[in-house]
Amino acid sequence: MNHKSITIALAGNPNSGKTTIFNCITGTRQKVGNWPGVTVEKKEGTVSKYGYNLKIIDLPGTYSLTPFSVEEIIARNYVLEECPDVVIVIIDASNLERSLYLATQLREIDCKVIFALNMADVARARGLKIDADKLSELLDLPVVFTVGNKNKDIDILLQKAIELAESKSEIPQKRKVKYSKDIENSIAKLQSFIEKKIAVKFPYNTRWMVIKLLEDDRILKEHIVQKTGNNSQDIIQEAQALRKKLVDRFDEEPEIVMTDERYGFIAGIIKEVLTTSTKNRIDISRNIDLVLTHRFIGFPIFIFFIWAMFQLTFSLGAYPMEWIGIGVDGISALLESFLSESLLKDLVINGIIAGVGSVIIFLPNILILFFCIALFEDTGYMSRAAFLMDKIMHLIGLHGKSFIPMLMGFGCNVPAIMTTRTLESKKDRILTILITPFMSCSAKLPVYIILTGTFFSAKAGTVIFAIYLFGVIAAVVSGRLFRSTLLRGADAPFVMELPPYRAPMLKSVLIHMWDRGKMFLKKMGGVILIGSVVIWFLSAFPRNIQYSVDYAAEIVGVNVLYETKIKVDAKVDDRSCMQSIEEERDTAIRKIKLAQDAEKMEKSFMGHIGKKLAPLFAPLGIDWRGGVALLTGFVAKEIVVSTMGILYAVEEEESDAFQKAIISSGMTPLSALSMMLFVLLYLPCFATIAAIKRETGSLKWMFFSIAYTTSLAWVVAFSVYQGGRLIGLN
Ligand code: GDP
Ligand code: MG
Repeated sequence: MNHKSITIALAGNPNSGKTTIFNCITGTRQKVGNWPGVTVEKKEGTVSKYGYNLKIIDLPGTYSLTPFSVEEIIARNYVLEECPDVVIVIIDASNLERSLYLATQLREIDCKVIFALNMADVARARGLKIDADKLSELLDLPVVFTVGNKNKDIDILLQKAIELAESKSEIPQKRKVKYSKDIENSIAKLQSFIEKKIAVKFPYNTRWMVIKLLEDDRILKEHIVQKTGNNSQDIIQEAQALRKKLVDRFDEEPEIVMTDERYGFIAGIIKEVLTTSTKNRIDISRNIDLVLTHRFIGFPIFIFFIWAMFQLTFSLGAYPMEWIGIGVDGISALLESFLSESLLKDLVINGIIAGVGSVIIFLPNILILFFCIALFEDTGYMSRAAFLMDKIMHLIGLHGKSFIPMLMGFGCNVPAIMTTRTLESKKDRILTILITPFMSCSAKLPVYIILTGTFFSAKAGTVIFAIYLFGVIAAVVSGRLFRSTLLRGADAPFVMELPPYRAPMLKSVLIHMWDRGKMFLKKMGGVILIGSVVIWFLSAFPRNIQYSVDYAAEIVGVNVLYETKIKVDAKVDDRSCMQSIEEERDTAIRKIKLAQDAEKMEKSFMGHIGKKLAPLFAPLGIDWRGGVALLTGFVAKEIVVSTMGILYAVEEEESDAFQKAIISSGMTPLSALSMMLFVLLYLPCFATIAAIKRETGSLKWMFFSIAYTTSLAWVVAFSVYQGGRLIGLN
C-alpha cells in the first residue's frame, strides 16, 4: 500500500517528556544516530498508523530558539529547513511559563504547531488547572493533554497532529506575539524593504526573518549572505539602522526588549488559562506558619493541641469505652448463664472474653487518638510539630521527625512503632523504636491510678505526672546512650519539608484512622487472644487443687446460716430488712469465692512461677502476687490490674476493698512507687514486641529491647526501693 508520508517533529524543553512520547509513538522502530557534524543524539522513527507513514523526529531539548547552543541551532534549523509537516511542542504542563517561551518562538516561525500539555498528572497534583480550550483559542492551535510515561492520550495527540498536517487552512498569523508600537513599526519597515529589494524566496516567513534581523541573529545573517550575495549588505545595513533607532528609543538592545515582550505575552496567556490553587495556598501556609512555627508562640500552641488531643482521647473515649465494657460484661453474663459448668466455659469466659475484652475496650481511645493524628498529618500540622521539636530531639541525637512516633507512644506503642517507617535513616529508626516504649502507654495508666490512689491519695496527680516525666527522661538518657555507643552516627542535616496546609478531607482522615485502627485490632486481637489463653491456662491449671479450706462447705454453711436468719426475721415481715440480709449473705459468699480464687491462683502454675520469681522481685519491695501481676502484663499492661484484683482477692470495682487488701499485703508507698516505675519501664507488651520485630526486621533488636527495658526497670526500681529504705522511707 502506498501511504502518504507525514513528518512530525517533537520539540520541547529538556525533560518535558519528548523522548518518552517519541518512544510511545514509535515503539521499537527507531533509528538512533547523530545530527550531522555534532555529537548531539538524533532519534528518528517511522511508523504506519491511521493510513499514513509517519516519520517522527525527536529534536534536542531546548528552552529557546536563540542560536546560542548547538541544540538550539539544530532544533531551529531542522524546523526552518526541513519544514516538518507538524511540530508537536511537548510542554511540561507543571511548568507552563517556562515551556511557553519555546512554544511562542516556534509559533513565530511559520509552521504547523500543536501543543501537547504533557505531565498533566504532575500539574494536577500541584493544583495547577490549565484551561486547554482557552489556550487553544488564544494561540489558535490544537492543544492536547498527555501523560507520557503512562502512554495516556498519545493516540489523540497523534490523530490531531495528522489532522493538522492534512488541513489545508493557512497557518494562522494573527495570534502571535505582538510587540510594542516602535518595534512593530520597525518590523513593518524592514519587511517592506526586504520584499521590495529581494527577489530570492526564503524558505521562512518574512516576519520571522525580520524579527531575527532586528535581534541581530548571527546565523540568519550568514544565511542571508549565502543566499543573496551582494543584496544582503543593503538588508543588513537597513536592519542595523533600525536597530540603532530602537536602541536609542529603549536604551536597551532590541533582542532584550523583545524577549521581555514575549514574556509579557506569555504572562498574559498564563493569566488567562492557568488557575493555581497552589500559589495561594503557599501564601496562606506561609502566614499560618508565621504563627504556628513561631519561636515563642508556636510551642504553647503545640502543647495545647497535644493536650486537647489527650483530652479528647480520654474524655470523649470514656463513653464508648463504657458501652463496650457493658457489652463485654453482658456477653460474659449471658454465656455464664447459658453454658454449663465446664473447662471450655472457663476458657471462653475467663480466658478469651476477659482477655480480648480488656483490650477491645481501648479501641475507642485508640481510634480517637488516630483520628487526631490523621488530622494533624492531613492538614500538614504534623510536620510543623516535628519542626518545633527538632531542637529538643537533637538532645537525643534524633530529628524532629522521631518525635511523632514517641508522641503516639503515649497512646499505644504498636502504631507508634509502625510510624517509624517514615524515618529515612535505619539507625534513626532503630533508635526511635528502642526508646518509644518508655513513653508510658495508656494501658499502664490504670496501674498508676490504683496504686497512687491507695498510697498517695492527695498527691496522686503529681505522682502520675512525675512517672510520665520519668519515662521521657529514661527515653532521652537511653537515646543519648545508644547514639554514642550502639547506633553511632551523626544526625545528618536534612531539610524538613513543610507542605502547604490543606483542609483535611473527612474521608481521607477516616481512612487513615481506620487503616491504623485495623492494624491495632489485628495485631492486638491475634496476640491478645493467644496471650489470654496462655495466661488462662497457667492460672486455671492444675485442676485438682488441695484447698486449705473447704470453700464449698463454707458456702453451704453461709447459706444455711442466712436461711435460718431469714426465717427468724421473716416474722418481722420487713421487706427492706430482708433485702439487707440477702445482700449480706451474697457479700459473704462472694468473699469466700474470691478467697478460693486467690488460693486457686496461688496454687496454679502461675502462682508457682510467681513464687519462683519472688526472690527476683523481693529486693524491689514487690511480693509474689505483684510479680505474677507484672508477668501477666507481658500480654497487655491493662491485665496487670485485673490480675492484682484476682490475687488480692478483691473485686476491682470495690476500690476501697482493693486498697485495704493491698495495704494489708504489706505494700508501702515506697514499694508502690517501685512497682509503678517497674511497670513504666519494663518489657513492652506482646504486641509491641511483635511490632519491634517487624519494624527492625531483626530478632537481635527485639531481644535487646526486651533485655534492656527489663534490666533498666529492675535497676531503677531496686535503686528507688533500697535507696528509699536507706534514707528511712517506707
Ligand atoms: P526529554 O528530556 O524531553 O526527552 O524527557 P524524557 O522523555 O526523558 O522524560 C523525562 C522524565 O519525565 C522521564 O523520567 C519520564 O518518565 C518522565 N515523564 C515523561 N512524561 C511524563 C508525564 O506525563 N508525567 C510524569 N509524571 N512523568 C513523565
Ligand atoms: Mg530526551
